[in-house]
Amino acid sequence: MSSILIVEDSPDNMKLFRTLLELKGHVVTGLANGDSLLRALDERAPDLVLMDIQLPGRDGYELLAEIRRSRRPQLRVVALTAHAMTGDQERALEAGFDGYISKPIDIRAFPAQIEHHLSQQSPDRPDVSSAERS
Ligand code: MN
Repeated sequence: MSSILIVEDSPDNMKLFRTLLELKGHVVTGLANGDSLLRALDERAPDLVLMDIQLPGRDGYELLAEIRRSRRPQLRVVALTAHAMTGDQERALEAGFDGYISKPIDIRAFPAQIEHHLSQQSPDRPDVSSAERS
């Protein structure tokens, strides 16, 4: 059982992701925008964050940069990318996401994709914010 935080502005997608992950026994927190995510991360550290790239307000790239800069550099964050957006997957990895899952998801493959990401070692990224302070 892991705690998974999902940021996704499509209620239909959120319902699907939540259902599939809760079936696997995970504890899912669903948030609809980036500001809610940043507030949530100030209070707790989920095992995994799934983040839609295309969000109202700050998009996934801006949010990831903010998270890496000042909050939790070690946090595993997987991008949810739209199939139609060519280049988003490469861009997501270059931007520092720990992986990506393309939408629409493959319902049968999705749980295993999540387990794969949960089984990965926490990335060894330097804590930039503390380095800057010292
Ligand atoms: Mn979206």
